[in-house]
Amino acid sequence: MTADLIYTFQSLGLANGYDDVEAEFAPFKEFKSTWKRSGHSVRFQISDYLRGADRRVLEDFANSLYGCLTGEGPRGIYSDSLITWMGSKDFVNRNQPIYLKRSRNLTLDHHGQVYDLQDAYLSLREQGLVRACPDAVFNWTVRENRRRVGYCSVLMKVVAVSSILDSVDVPSYVSEYVLYHELLHIEDGMRPNRRHHDKNFRNRERLHPRWRESEEWLRRLASRPV
Ligand SMILES: [Zn+2]
Repeated sequence: MTADLIYTFQSLGLANGYDDVEAEFAPFKEFKSTWKRSGHSVRFQISDYLRGADRRVLEDFANSLYGCLTGEGPRGIYSDSLITWMGSKDFVNRNQPIYLKRSRNLTLDHHGQVYDLQDAYLSLREQGLVRACPDAVFNWTVRENRRRVGYCSVLMKVVAVSSILDSVDVPSYVSEYVLYHELLHIEDGMRPNRRHHDKNFRNRERLHPRWRESEEWLRRLASRPV
């Protein structure tokens, strides 16, 4: 696989005017790639989540990166073949466990002290608010984040909900609502160069019957003295 990577980047490098090219996989937590360029030399560090990508995906990706390097056109790094592959079951099966291992602030458990995020998901399903998302995993955070109460990796289908909401003092609908928000992002999928919280998103968010009370709770928790 590394041989494929080097071959792809070197041969496309020649076509793009770079005759000294190095490329290696790097264990970044999030999907990203970096490069250092000097004259006709360039050294790439490519997210190792691309291990297992086929030749075509690697070629399209390399072409996109060379496009960025030479500043040609507004192309982003996400080619259609890359987006398709990243949305595949194979991609998630390979990379989700690696991503979870690199996520230090996750308990890797949907059971909290008080609430179970899997139950919250089933409740959202029963209410018809979310579609089935069998690959998604739900985790409480280790730290009690007060402002960033939920986040997700759309790519890895991993959702995190702050353990500050896993408390007898906080009603169950608050963590359910935060989970709902993150699941909407996962349903939207990869949307490079598009706003995440557009009007349509906000409208769907407000389909949750307790959205107003939940927002109120989240505001109070964020401003509560420690
Ligand atoms: Zn969001």
